[in-house]
Amino acid sequence: MAGKKHVHKYHQVRVSNMLVWACAFPDCNHYMPKHMEDIVTGKSSFCWECEKQIVLGPINMHMMQPLCNDCMAGKATNEPEMSEKIRQFLAQSKEPLTKQ
Ligand SMILES: [Zn+2]
Ligand SMILES: [Zn+2]
Repeated sequence: MAGKKHVHKYHQVRVSNMLVWACAFPDCNHYMPKHMEDIVTGKSSFCWECEKQIVLGPINMHMMQPLCNDCMAGKATNEPEMSEKIRQFLAQSKEPLTKQ
């Protein structure tokens, strides 16, 4: 990892037919192979919709570009296959994914 310490803005990108979790900042070449995504789970990142700082977890890591709870709830109405998982998760979880 080059440059100063920062919170990576993770998204999934395809590198030679393999998905990896990569940082989106142009001056950062940090990435994590998909089979090591346990390490990415629980890490801080940023919502791709509203730029709020979030924590990566099993639900938003289903997304190519992870979102915060609020934006996921918004997306849930548009994306039927995501909506059931997200609704269940939001209903069960008393702990917010987001850090204030
Ligand atoms: Zn980074
Ligand atoms: Zn958001």
